[in-house]
Amino acid sequence: MATVFTKIITGEIPCYKVHENEHFIAFLDINPNAKGHTLCVPKKETNKLFDLDASEYTALMNFSREVALALRKTIPCLRIGMSVIGLEVPHVHVHLIPLHSMENATFQHKVALNPEEFEELAIQIRQHL
Ligand code: AMP
Repeated sequence: MATVFTKIITGEIPCYKVHENEHFIAFLDINPNAKGHTLCVPKKETNKLFDLDASEYTALMNFSREVALALRKTIPCLRIGMSVIGLEVPHVHVHLIPLHSMENATFQHKVALNPEEFEELAIQIRQHL
């Protein structure tokens, strides 16, 4: 069965898109650890990060770096953290999280944004790409 991220990639369900190229898409996490929490996702559905071949892995990291640099210009924060978990959605994704403290890296504390705030944030990040 297609993952929720494949459904986003095919346009079946919406997202707040930040960046896209032939092989990858980046969109805002719907339940963010911090404002600007973004997911970078390969369009080809693979469950686990280390099942990507070396070139896919490197390309994902390069794409994530591009997005992280735009995030850094958009969100005042100490630094951009990166995590790969995948326990909820079995489709490789890199979490990019603006960090203000260690709390933002724990996935225990969430921030609530309304649809207008998500949309505005995605626009601001896109302007730095
Ligand atoms: P994990 O698989 O544990 O790395 O977590 C999956 C992440 O995907 C969580 O942070 C969710 O909030 C996020 N997520 C799940 N569904 C969506 C969606 N439809 N749009 C954006 N983010 C999502």
